[in-house]
Amino acid sequence: MSKFAEPMARLIDELKKLPGVGSKSAQRYAFHILRSSDEDAEQLAAAIREIKAALRLCSVCNNITDVDPCVYCSSATRNQRLVCVVEEPTNIAAVEKSHTYNGAYHVLHGTLSPIHGVGPEQLRIANLTRRVESGSIDEVILATNPTVEGEATAVYLARLLKPTGIRVTRIATGIPAGSDIEYADEVTLQRALEGRRDM
Ligand SMILES: [Zn+2]
Repeated sequence: MSKFAEPMARLIDELKKLPGVGSKSAQRYAFHILRSSDEDAEQLAAAIREIKAALRLCSVCNNITDVDPCVYCSSATRNQRLVCVVEEPTNIAAVEKSHTYNGAYHVLHGTLSPIHGVGPEQLRIANLTRRVESGSIDEVILATNPTVEGEATAVYLARLLKPTGIRVTRIATGIPAGSDIEYADEVTLQRALEGRRDM
């Protein structure tokens, strides 16, 4: 039998599913929620319900958005013929922070990883191929992370997209190998974008 009342044990079990949350932290959060006001607890529950109800993936670029197409895809001031391909939606914020990029995006939601059983069909590539084939893109910048998986994904996409005749580039190294573009500082990422090379 659990040492906690059933509703408490249930909340702890749910919190433990969050990344980086172990038993100890889950118990601490659960007790914190129990002690907080009804209003605070309700706001937390409502915020969780709302991201599931209101957020979805942009049908054009797969960014997480509450409007479809997302703000980047529907912006008239951005170059929609230039597309920066990133691994995760959070990478967009990192590229934006460099203040050098004014094109559109495409989010893969992962990288190729044969050892983890992630093949091209597990990534969101189809709508990128469709955009390229429709003739609405001049250049695709591959901004996957400089990890083994990120490089393999960039090579795969370059092979897939180059036969269509568009320019396919890879962000320059300068971002330390094996790292995440999310943690690159603004200047490094700015240089990586400016120094991109053709694949
Ligand atoms: Zn979009």
